[in-house]
Amino acid sequence: MHSTNKKKVLVLPGSKLGVVEEFIPGKGTYEREGSIYSRIIGHANKDVVNKKVEIRPLTDNPILPSKDSIVTGIVSSVQGKAATLDIYQINAHTLKRPFTGMLHVSRCSPKYERGITDVCKLADLMKAKVVDDKDGFIKLNTVDANLGVIRAVCSNCGSFLVYKRNGLKCKKCGNFEKRKVSDDYFKKEL
Ligand SMILES: [Zn+2]
Repeated sequence: MHSTNKKKVLVLPGSKLGVVEEFIPGKGTYEREGSIYSRIIGHANKDVVNKKVEIRPLTDNPILPSKDSIVTGIVSSVQGKAATLDIYQINAHTLKRPFTGMLHVSRCSPKYERGITDVCKLADLMKAKVVDDKDGFIKLNTVDANLGVIRAVCSNCGSFLVYKRNGLKCKKCGNFEKRKVSDDYFKKEL
Protein backbone atom coordinates (compact mmCIF):
# COMPACT_ATOMS: atom_id res chain seq x y z
CA MET A 1 0.00 0.00 0.00
CA HIS A 2 0.99 3.62 -0.44
CA SER A 3 2.89 5.22 2.39
CA THR A 4 1.39 8.65 1.68
CA ASN A 5 -2.20 9.73 1.38
CA LYS A 6 -1.63 11.61 -1.86
CA LYS A 7 -0.28 10.17 -5.08
CA LYS A 8 0.59 12.17 -8.21
CA VAL A 9 0.37 10.47 -11.60
CA LEU A 10 0.71 11.99 -15.07
CA VAL A 11 -2.42 11.33 -17.10
CA LEU A 12 -3.76 12.00 -20.59
CA PRO A 13 -7.30 12.98 -21.62
CA GLY A 14 -9.42 9.83 -21.36
CA SER A 15 -7.18 8.11 -18.79
CA LYS A 16 -9.20 6.10 -16.31
CA LEU A 17 -8.65 7.37 -12.79
CA GLY A 18 -10.88 5.10 -10.78
CA VAL A 19 -14.50 4.41 -10.04
CA VAL A 20 -17.12 6.50 -8.29
CA GLU A 21 -17.15 4.08 -5.34
CA GLU A 22 -13.52 5.11 -4.64
CA PHE A 23 -13.47 8.82 -5.46
CA ILE A 24 -15.55 11.93 -5.98
CA PRO A 25 -14.81 13.28 -9.49
CA GLY A 26 -13.10 16.67 -9.09
CA LYS A 27 -11.72 19.39 -11.39
CA GLY A 28 -10.50 18.25 -14.83
CA THR A 29 -12.32 14.93 -14.68
CA TYR A 30 -15.54 13.46 -15.96
CA GLU A 31 -17.63 10.46 -15.07
CA ARG A 32 -19.01 7.86 -17.44
CA GLU A 33 -20.87 4.72 -16.37
CA GLY A 34 -19.42 4.74 -12.90
CA SER A 35 -15.81 5.33 -13.93
CA ILE A 36 -13.86 8.56 -13.63
CA TYR A 37 -11.63 9.79 -16.47
CA SER A 38 -9.33 12.72 -17.04
CA ARG A 39 -10.43 15.35 -19.54
CA ILE A 40 -7.07 17.11 -19.70
CA ILE A 41 -3.34 16.40 -19.61
CA GLY A 42 -2.01 16.83 -16.11
CA HIS A 43 -1.22 15.30 -12.77
CA ALA A 44 -3.91 13.19 -11.18
CA ASN A 45 -4.19 14.04 -7.55
CA LYS A 46 -5.82 11.15 -5.73
CA ASP A 47 -6.68 12.24 -2.25
CA VAL A 48 -7.56 9.00 -0.51
CA VAL A 49 -8.38 10.72 2.77
CA ASN A 50 -11.04 13.00 1.30
CA LYS A 51 -11.84 10.42 -1.41
CA LYS A 52 -11.44 12.94 -4.19
CA VAL A 53 -9.58 12.82 -7.50
CA GLU A 54 -8.73 15.90 -9.53
CA ILE A 55 -6.37 16.84 -12.33
CA ARG A 56 -3.89 19.67 -11.99
CA PRO A 57 -3.11 20.92 -15.51
CA LEU A 58 0.47 20.59 -16.70
CA THR A 59 0.45 23.79 -18.67
CA ASP A 60 -0.07 27.26 -17.35
CA ASN A 61 -2.87 27.47 -19.88
CA PRO A 62 -5.78 25.47 -18.48
CA ILE A 63 -8.27 26.72 -21.08
CA LEU A 64 -10.76 24.12 -22.17
CA PRO A 65 -13.06 24.28 -25.16
CA SER A 66 -16.59 24.87 -23.94
CA LYS A 67 -19.94 25.24 -25.63
CA ASP A 68 -20.04 28.17 -28.12
CA SER A 69 -16.24 28.61 -28.16
CA ILE A 70 -14.89 29.43 -31.59
CA VAL A 71 -11.96 27.15 -32.30
CA THR A 72 -9.36 26.80 -35.04
CA GLY A 73 -7.91 23.45 -35.93
CA ILE A 74 -6.28 21.28 -38.54
CA VAL A 75 -8.19 18.39 -40.07
CA SER A 76 -6.47 15.25 -38.79
CA SER A 77 -8.78 12.61 -40.22
CA VAL A 78 -11.64 12.43 -42.72
CA GLN A 79 -13.67 9.28 -42.77
CA GLY A 80 -17.21 8.41 -43.80
CA LYS A 81 -19.54 10.96 -42.27
CA ALA A 82 -17.12 12.73 -39.94
CA ALA A 83 -13.82 14.51 -39.66
CA THR A 84 -11.63 15.10 -36.63
CA LEU A 85 -9.79 18.32 -35.96
CA ASP A 86 -6.72 18.98 -33.87
CA ILE A 87 -7.82 22.15 -32.16
CA TYR A 88 -4.93 24.42 -31.30
CA GLN A 89 -6.73 27.69 -30.80
CA ILE A 90 -9.76 28.48 -28.63
CA ASN A 91 -11.21 31.94 -29.15
CA ALA A 92 -8.03 34.05 -29.09
CA HIS A 93 -5.95 31.63 -27.00
CA THR A 94 -3.33 29.39 -28.55
CA LEU A 95 -2.93 26.06 -26.80
CA LYS A 96 0.30 24.31 -26.03
CA ARG A 97 -1.25 20.94 -26.73
CA PRO A 98 -4.16 20.45 -29.11
CA PHE A 99 -7.55 19.00 -28.28
CA THR A 100 -9.46 16.73 -30.61
CA GLY A 101 -12.87 17.78 -31.89
CA MET A 102 -15.36 15.95 -34.08
CA LEU A 103 -17.25 17.42 -37.02
CA HIS A 104 -20.13 15.34 -38.35
CA VAL A 105 -21.43 15.88 -41.89
CA SER A 106 -24.89 16.79 -40.53
CA ARG A 107 -23.49 19.81 -38.67
CA CYS A 108 -21.16 21.25 -41.25
CA SER A 109 -23.21 23.24 -43.74
CA PRO A 110 -26.54 25.06 -44.06
CA LYS A 111 -27.25 22.83 -47.08
CA TYR A 112 -27.28 19.06 -47.32
CA GLU A 113 -23.81 17.58 -47.80
CA ARG A 114 -23.60 13.97 -48.85
CA GLY A 115 -20.07 13.26 -47.70
CA ILE A 116 -17.55 14.88 -45.42
CA THR A 117 -14.99 14.99 -48.28
CA ASP A 118 -17.11 17.75 -49.90
CA VAL A 119 -16.69 19.73 -46.67
CA CYS A 120 -13.02 19.42 -45.80
CA LYS A 121 -9.92 17.44 -46.57
CA LEU A 122 -6.95 16.26 -44.55
CA ALA A 123 -4.67 19.10 -43.36
CA ASP A 124 -7.21 21.86 -44.09
CA LEU A 125 -7.31 24.67 -41.59
CA MET A 126 -10.83 25.17 -40.22
CA LYS A 127 -12.75 27.49 -37.98
CA ALA A 128 -15.60 25.86 -36.06
CA LYS A 129 -17.95 26.35 -33.15
CA VAL A 130 -18.16 23.98 -30.19
CA VAL A 131 -21.75 22.74 -29.87
CA ASP A 132 -21.17 20.19 -27.15
CA ASP A 133 -18.34 19.40 -24.73
CA LYS A 134 -20.07 16.76 -22.67
CA ASP A 135 -17.73 14.20 -21.09
CA GLY A 136 -14.76 15.94 -22.70
CA PHE A 137 -15.97 14.86 -26.14
CA ILE A 138 -15.94 17.97 -28.31
CA LYS A 139 -18.52 18.19 -31.08
CA LEU A 140 -18.11 20.90 -33.68
CA ASN A 141 -20.37 22.80 -36.05
CA THR A 142 -19.39 24.81 -39.15
CA VAL A 143 -22.83 25.90 -40.41
CA ASP A 144 -22.41 29.68 -39.99
CA ALA A 145 -21.00 31.67 -42.91
CA ASN A 146 -17.81 32.64 -41.07
CA LEU A 147 -17.10 29.00 -40.18
CA GLY A 148 -15.55 26.26 -42.30
CA VAL A 149 -12.30 25.92 -44.19
CA ILE A 150 -10.06 28.97 -43.90
CA ARG A 151 -6.96 27.64 -45.66
CA ALA A 152 -6.47 24.64 -47.92
CA VAL A 153 -4.01 23.20 -50.37
CA CYS A 154 -4.58 21.49 -53.70
CA SER A 155 -4.92 17.68 -53.46
CA ASN A 156 -3.24 17.46 -56.82
CA CYS A 157 -0.13 19.64 -56.54
CA GLY A 158 -0.03 21.01 -52.98
CA SER A 159 -0.33 24.71 -53.89
CA PHE A 160 -2.59 26.94 -51.83
CA LEU A 161 -6.11 27.06 -53.19
CA VAL A 162 -7.81 30.35 -53.90
CA TYR A 163 -11.42 31.21 -53.21
CA LYS A 164 -13.86 30.90 -56.10
CA ARG A 165 -17.61 30.88 -56.07
CA ASN A 166 -18.82 27.42 -54.96
CA GLY A 167 -15.40 26.18 -54.02
CA LEU A 168 -11.67 26.53 -54.28
CA LYS A 169 -9.38 26.61 -57.25
CA CYS A 170 -5.73 25.87 -57.76
CA LYS A 171 -4.03 28.62 -59.74
CA LYS A 172 -1.17 26.34 -60.59
CA CYS A 173 -2.80 23.22 -62.01
CA GLY A 174 -6.41 24.40 -62.43
CA ASN A 175 -7.82 21.77 -60.08
CA PHE A 176 -11.22 22.70 -58.63
CA GLU A 177 -12.15 21.38 -55.20
CA LYS A 178 -15.26 21.46 -53.08
CA ARG A 179 -15.17 22.62 -49.49
CA LYS A 180 -17.44 24.28 -46.96
CA VAL A 181 -15.55 27.53 -47.29
CA SER A 182 -15.61 30.13 -44.53
CA ASP A 183 -16.19 33.81 -45.29
CA ASP A 184 -12.83 34.27 -43.61
CA TYR A 185 -11.04 32.14 -46.19
CA PHE A 186 -7.71 33.59 -47.16
CA LYS A 187 -8.88 35.20 -50.39
CA LYS A 188 -5.73 36.90 -51.52
CA GLU A 189 -3.66 35.14 -54.13
CA LEU A 190 -0.68 33.33 -52.71
ZN1 LIG B 1 -2.94 22.21 -57.96
